[in-house]
Amino acid sequence: MALISVNNLTFSYSDNRVLKDISLAIEEGDFLGIIGPNGSGKSTLLRLLTNLLKPGSGSISINGRDLDSYSLPNLARLIAVVPEETLVNFPFTVEELVTMGRTPYLSFLDSFTSRDREIAYEAMNKTGIFHLRHRFINEISSGERQRAFIAQALAQETSILVLDEPTAHLDINHQTEIFDLLRNLQAQRRLTILVVSHDLNLAALYCGKLLLLKEGTVFALGSPAEVISARNLESVYRAKVMVTENPAAKKPQISLLPKI
Ligand code: ADP
Ligand code: MG
Repeated sequence: MALISVNNLTFSYSDNRVLKDISLAIEEGDFLGIIGPNGSGKSTLLRLLTNLLKPGSGSISINGRDLDSYSLPNLARLIAVVPEETLVNFPFTVEELVTMGRTPYLSFLDSFTSRDREIAYEAMNKTGIFHLRHRFINEISSGERQRAFIAQALAQETSILVLDEPTAHLDINHQTEIFDLLRNLQAQRRLTILVVSHDLNLAALYCGKLLLLKEGTVFALGSPAEVISARNLESVYRAKVMVTENPAAKKPQISLLPKI
């Protein structure tokens, strides 16, 4: 049985049908990259997978149980989400934000324990933001804030991690650091990782499987070598590209070509 199964999923925002008949199976330990042009439904799919939105038709189940049958804290102990938009108006410190990742483990009116603090510290260390722990999250750079939200998700200690464009504000060093971290978590802790990425080369380099969405449908699903072809990318993105092999990593590598 697949860890997550999506069956004939359809979703509309009022009368705008954004996801159309999506079916896919995600196995435990998968590192799945979700790619596709702007507006192809990547974030919407993540919101459905984390029960922030309800399917119009079709279903999503985790461990054979419909998503709706999980209580909120139970779901939060299973899936952690790093959302696309991490603008926050409340003046939390980095440490407070990361520690909030422990909330699903609190019982009513409980406060955080030294164990919770330890886990939060470890998450901040892993993401390289420990030195920022006393800073306010609205007074650090967007790349640092992005790492703080990833640390919060790690502190949640879930077996599934879902990230929406986690490297959008990061420089190339921090981009690879985040993906290295994700790959380690997947390899060492058997974490299942779903990551939306607009960076096709990064996704091809790290993800074991790629899901390519086109206008709310599954256009291709498979290994990077199967999904990343000039033919697929040209028909989905309408961009002119050349796909070669990254000589060091032996993964497909995309070069953009001018159209004229
Ligand atoms: P992606 O993440 O692939 O860029 P989204 O899932 O955010 O795409 O959006 C898919 C489509 O749904 C787009 O056409 C977008 O305009 C629309 N959409 C996204 N969020 C909303 C919303 N909250 N209300 C109405 N339409 C939305
Ligand atoms: Mg998006």
